[in-house]
Amino acid sequence: MTSSVNPFANFVIVGERTNVTGSAKFRKLIENDDYTAALAIALQQVESGANVLDINMDAALIDGVKAMTTFLNLISVEPDIAKVPLMIDSSKWDIIEAGLKCTQGKPIVNSISMKEGEALFLEQAKKVRRYGAAAVVMAFDELGQADTVDRKVQICTRAYNLLRDKLDFPPEEIIFDPNIFAVATGIEEHNDYGVAFIEATRIIRETLPHAHVSGGVSNVSFSFRGNEPVREAMHAVFLYHAIKAGMDMGIVNAGQLAVYDSIDPELRERCEDVILNRRADSTERLLDTAEIYRGKEGQKAAVKDLSWRQAPVRERLSHSLVHGITEFIVEDTEAARLEADRPLHVIEGPLMDGMNVVGDLFGTGKMFLPQVVKSARVMKQAVAHLLPYMEEEKQRLGTQDQAAGKVLMATVKGDVHDIGKNIVGVVLQCNGFDVVDLGVMVSCEKILEAAREHKCDIIGLSGLITPSLDEMCWVASEMERQGFGDMPLLIGGATTSRTHTAVKIAPNYKGPVLYVPDASRAVPVVQKLLGDDRQDFIQETREDQERARLAHFAGQDKRPRATLEAARANGLKLDFKSYQPPKPSFLGTRVFEDYPLDDLVGLIDWTPFFATWELHGRFPAILEDEIVGEAAKPLYADACAMLDKMVAEKWVTAKAVIGFWPANRVGDDIALWHDDCRQHREATFHTLRQQMIKGEGSANLALADFVAPEGHDDWLGGFAVTAGHGERERTMAFKEANDDYSAILFQALCDRLAEALAERMHELVRREYWGYAPNEQLSVDDILAEKYRGIRPAPGYPAQPDHTEKQQLFRILDAEAKIGMQLTESMAMLPGSSVSGLYFSHPAAEYFGVGRIDRDQVCEYAIRKGMELSDIERWLAPILAYDPMMVAKVMAGV
Ligand code: SAH
Repeated sequence: MTSSVNPFANFVIVGERTNVTGSAKFRKLIENDDYTAALAIALQQVESGANVLDINMDAALIDGVKAMTTFLNLISVEPDIAKVPLMIDSSKWDIIEAGLKCTQGKPIVNSISMKEGEALFLEQAKKVRRYGAAAVVMAFDELGQADTVDRKVQICTRAYNLLRDKLDFPPEEIIFDPNIFAVATGIEEHNDYGVAFIEATRIIRETLPHAHVSGGVSNVSFSFRGNEPVREAMHAVFLYHAIKAGMDMGIVNAGQLAVYDSIDPELRERCEDVILNRRADSTERLLDTAEIYRGKEGQKAAVKDLSWRQAPVRERLSHSLVHGITEFIVEDTEAARLEADRPLHVIEGPLMDGMNVVGDLFGTGKMFLPQVVKSARVMKQAVAHLLPYMEEEKQRLGTQDQAAGKVLMATVKGDVHDIGKNIVGVVLQCNGFDVVDLGVMVSCEKILEAAREHKCDIIGLSGLITPSLDEMCWVASEMERQGFGDMPLLIGGATTSRTHTAVKIAPNYKGPVLYVPDASRAVPVVQKLLGDDRQDFIQETREDQERARLAHFAGQDKRPRATLEAARANGLKLDFKSYQPPKPSFLGTRVFEDYPLDDLVGLIDWTPFFATWELHGRFPAILEDEIVGEAAKPLYADACAMLDKMVAEKWVTAKAVIGFWPANRVGDDIALWHDDCRQHREATFHTLRQQMIKGEGSANLALADFVAPEGHDDWLGGFAVTAGHGERERTMAFKEANDDYSAILFQALCDRLAEALAERMHELVRREYWGYAPNEQLSVDDILAEKYRGIRPAPGYPAQPDHTEKQQLFRILDAEAKIGMQLTESMAMLPGSSVSGLYFSHPAAEYFGVGRIDRDQVCEYAIRKGMELSDIERWLAPILAYDPMMVAKVMAGV
C-alpha cells in the first residue's frame, strides 16, 4: 500500500544545488567563473522539479555581490530557469540586496532574523517589502539559534507579531525556518532535533495563520556524509513526517527525493527511529544498517544483536572487550565483582582472559590497532569501577598487588608529539602492564627519578624530531652513570630507527636498549623482556645490534661527493632575464585568527590518518580493503562523527599567519628585504646544497636556487599554521575519563586539520595572496598530490634538514605574538598540531633531499649562520657525511 496522497503534492521544492556552501561542485564553478556550467546546474534543478531555486554565493574566495549579480543576470535571460522564483540566500545583507536588484518576478529573501535585535530585523524586513519580496525568517534571536520546540515557537511567534503589528507584513509571505539540525551525531542532545523541528512546525502552522514553514533538509543527515542512499532515506522519512505536521516548503536536492514507501523497510524503520528519536540506541542501529548501503551493494552487514547479553557474565565481559563495547561494562564488571572473592580476581580472571583474546587476535593480525584501543577503553572503564574496591581492600588488608610489569613512557625533552607514545601505552595496558605516562617534553632527570620512584621495570622513550635522538643518547648515558644496571630502555618514534638505536644509543648503556618500530611490536618485546626467556632475548638483540653496527660502518656512504665548489658550479641556473617573478598582493604578514574549521574538512588527507593507526593503504580504497577495511570503516565513521562535533562545537581554534617579503638569492642563502628598496635586510634564510654526484643535466640543488639573485625583483613567503589551540586540554579530559581511544582519535584529527589548514593557506596564497595562479583548477586529490605550481618546504624536512631555520621564520612571522605558536629548545612546534614553512613561487621549484654533505659545507654553513661548528653538527647529525667524533679524534692526533 502506498501513501494515499503524494506527500510532495502541496510542497514547494526549493532546489539546493545552486548554493556554494552546500555544493562544492557549484562553488568551484563559481570560483572559476564557469557560469555556463553553473547555469546548467540551475536548469537541472528546475527540470528535476524544483519550484524555487535557492542561490547562495557566500564563500571565502568569492566576491558575493559580484557573483550574485552575474549569476542572476544570466538566469534572467534563460527562460527555462527564469520561470521559477528565486530564493536569494546569504548571511550578508549587501549580497541579498544585490540579488534583489536583479530579480524579476517575486523573489524570496533567505533570510532575516532577530539575531541582532528587533530594530535591525524590522529594518531589513522593511527593505524586503520594498522589493516586494517574501522573507524566510530564521528561528534565531539575540540568544542564538533555537533548538528546542519552545524556543522555536517562541521566537517565530515573536517575529510574526512584530512583522504583523509593526509592518503589516502579509502573513502568507512569511516563511519560517525553525532550524533543521543534524541528528545521529553521537551527541545525545542532538537526538531530539528532528522531533523538535516537526513539533514546532505543527504548532507554528496551527497558531500563526497563513505563515509557511521551510527548512534546509540535508542538514538533518549531515553525520552520514558520503553515504547517499542513507541520506536520501533520512530525508524522505523526515519530510514524510514534517510535511504531515505542516512543513510546506523545503530546500532539497531536487531530483533526489526518495519516496517514503519505496525505501527498504528495515532502513526506513531505523531512519524513523532516529528522526523521531524513538529509542536510545537508534543512532547505533542506523550506523549498523548504514554500512550495508555505503559503497557496496548486497552485502548484509552485522545487524546489532543483543543475544550475547544472555550469556554468563564472564563471556559478556569478553564480548564487550573484543568488540570494544562500553555500554554494559560497568554493569557486568559489578556483576562479576559480586561473584568474585576479591575485586582483583575480576581483573586477573575474566577481564584478563578477555584481553588475552584481544591480544591474540591482534598478535595474529586478526584485530587492528583502532579495535585494540577501543578494547583498552573498555578495560580501563572496568578497572576504574573496581579501583575503589581494591583501594578499600588494600586499606583493610594491607596487601600489595603486582601487575605483570611496569613501563615508564615519556616523550623526551624538547619534543611534543605523543600520539605514537599514547598508542603504545594503551596497547601495553591492554596486555596487563602498568604504564606510568609522564607525557611530553620530559627531562632526563624527571624520567630517571620517576623510574626509581615508581619502581618501573622498563623505560620507554619516544621522539618525533631529530634532536630527540641526541636526547635519547643522553638518557642512555645517564642510565649508565646512575647505575640503572639492566633495566631495559625502549626506543620508538618517527625519527628513531634500528640502525640509530644500535649505532648511537645502545653503546651509551650496558643494559638492554631495544628499538620498537610500532605499537604492534611493543607487546611482544615487553613480554619477552619480562618473561623467563629474557636473557636469550636480550642476547639475540645484542647480536642483532652488533650486526647492524657492522653493516652500518661497512655500508657507510663512501661514494665520492662533489666538492662544495663543484656542487655550486652545478647549481640550478634559472633564467631570470626572460622570467618575471610574480609580486605578492601585500608585503609583511597577515593573520587569520580563527579560520573556519568547516572549510578545512574537505581538504583533509585521510591516508596519513589511517597510517597513524597502523592501517596502511590509500584512502578511500582502504575502507573497502579486504583485510583492514573492517577496522578502517568504523574508525572512519568515528572520525567523521568526532570531526563534526569538533567543527560544530569549535573544540579547537585554527590560526594562521602568512607573510611575504622582497627576497633575493645571495650565494646559497636567501636575503629577505624589509621593503622594495631592497636595502635593509629583514632576515636571512640559509640553505644547504646537495653534494651527491649528479648525472648529465641534473643540478646540485639548494632551495636558494629557486629565488632570483640580486638585481631582479623576487619574493619569498613564509607561513605558520596551527589547529592545536585547545588540543591539550581536551586530550587530557578524554584521558581522565578513561577514554584514550577518543584522546588519540582527537589528536590525530587535530593533526589532520593542521595539515588541511596548511594546504588551504597555500591554495589561498597561490590563487589570491601571492596570486600567481588565480585560475588554478585542481581537484582535492590533485591538491593533496601537490600538483600545483610552487612548494612550501618545511625546515627539518629533506630540502632543508636544519630545524633551527624555524627560529627566523617564527621571528619574522611574529608567530608567538600573533597566533600563540612557540618553539621548544629542540625546535618542536607548540601547540602539537602545527605546520610551518616557506613559500616558493617559481614554476621550477620542487622538493628534493639535500642528502649527505661534507665537512667543508658544514663549516661554511656554520659561519654563515654564526653558529659554533659543534652546535650545527648536532642539528645536522643525520646528514653529515662524516663522523664528527672521528674527525675530532684525528685532529687531536689520537
Ligand atoms: N597531505 C599531507 C601533507 C604533508 S607532507 C598530510 O596531510 O599529512 C607534505 C609536506 O611536507 C609538504 O607540503 C612540505 O611542507 C613538506 N615536505 C615534503 N617533502 C619535503 C622536502 N623534500 N623538503 C622540504 N619539505 C618537504
